[in-house]
Amino acid sequence: LLQLYQPLNWFGTYYRVIQQNFIDMEKMLDLFEEHQAVQDAPDAKDLLIKEGGGVTFDDVSFAYDPRQTALHNIKFTIPAGKTVALVGPSGGGKSTIFRLLFRFYDVTSGSIKIDGQDLRKVTQRSMRQHIGVVPQDTVLFNETIKYNIRYGNVNASDAEVEAAARAAQIHDRILTFPDGYETKVGERGLRLSGGEKQRIAIARTLLKNPSIILLDEATSALDNTTERLIQDSLKTLSANRTTLVIAHRLSTIVDADLILVMKEGRIVERGTHSELFKRGEDLFRKGVVADGGADGVGSGEGTYYSMWMRQGEEDSKRRGSVVPNGG
Ligand code: ATP
Repeated sequence: LLQLYQPLNWFGTYYRVIQQNFIDMEKMLDLFEEHQAVQDAPDAKDLLIKEGGGVTFDDVSFAYDPRQTALHNIKFTIPAGKTVALVGPSGGGKSTIFRLLFRFYDVTSGSIKIDGQDLRKVTQRSMRQHIGVVPQDTVLFNETIKYNIRYGNVNASDAEVEAAARAAQIHDRILTFPDGYETKVGERGLRLSGGEKQRIAIARTLLKNPSIILLDEATSALDNTTERLIQDSLKTLSANRTTLVIAHRLSTIVDADLILVMKEGRIVERGTHSELFKRGEDLFRKGVVADGGADGVGSGEGTYYSMWMRQGEEDSKRRGSVVPNGG
C-alpha cells in the first residue's frame, strides 16, 4: 500500500492489484476512473433501484484468458434484500463473481442485471453508488477515524458518523483511542487490528447506505468477542440489503437465504445450509462422500458437507474441543 502514496506511473499495476484483491477499490476507482478497463456505453443510463436492488446472473460465462474459462454458465438470483453466500475451494471463482458484479470486467456471455438493468447498459458511477464493498482487508487513509468513516458519505454529520460507528460495534472501541474520533490511523497513525478495520469499513458502508453489499469475509482467525461483534454489525449492514458474501468460515453463513458452492468455475451445489447439510449426510450414509476427505462424487454433490466435516476437524484440532454440529 505504501505505493499508494508514491507519485504516479503505477496506475496499471495498482489497478490490477485492486481488481484482484478488492482492496479499497471504491477509493481507487474514484481516483483513477479514467484508467478503468471497462467503458460506459455511449447511451448508458443511470442505474435505477426500482425494486430494492435484486441481482441476477443469467447464464454468465467468463474468461480472463480465452484459453481458460474461469466461470461456466453461472445462474442465480439474489432477490432484493436477501443474502446469498459463495463458498468453495480456492480458485473456484468466488472473487471473479464479485469482480463481474462490480463490473471490473464484462461477461464473456450471458448477462448480469440489477433490478432488470444490464450492467453494460448503465453508467458505472451510478451502479457503484448502489453497491457497498466490505473487502477482506480494508486500507485506511492516513487520516482521523472520523474522516475514514465519513468517507462513506461526505455529507454525513458527526452524529451520523457516530451512529454508524455504534451500529458497526466500533464506537466504544474508538472512545478508548487517545483522541477518540480524532485519532489518526493508517500507515502513519494508530495501527488498528484486522477486526477493527473491518468494523470501520462496515461503519463506512452503513453511511454510504447502498442497496447492494459485497462482503468478502476476512480469512484470518478472530477471537470470539471480535467475531461476535463483527457478526452483529454485519447483520445490521445486510438487513434489508441485497447481500453477496464470500464466506471462509462456514459458521457465518448458516442463515444465508441461499448458499452456492463453487468449484472450478461452476456452481456444483446450491441450497440452504440445512438442505445442503442433509443432502451431504444422506450421501455420506450411502458411502458416497468420504468424511472429511474427498469432495464427494464427480458432480460435486456433497462438497458442502465435506467442507463442514473438514472445518470441524480443523477447529477441534485448534481448540482441542468438540466438532461443531452443523445440522
Ligand atoms: P480464493 O478463495 O482463493 O479467493 P476464488 O474462488 O475467489 O479463490 P477466483 O479468484 O475467482 O477464485 O479465481 C478463479 C479462477 O480464475 C482461478 O483459476 C484463477 O487462477 C483465475 N484468475 C483469477 N484472476 C485472474 C486474472 N486476473 N487473470 C487470469 N486468471 C485469473
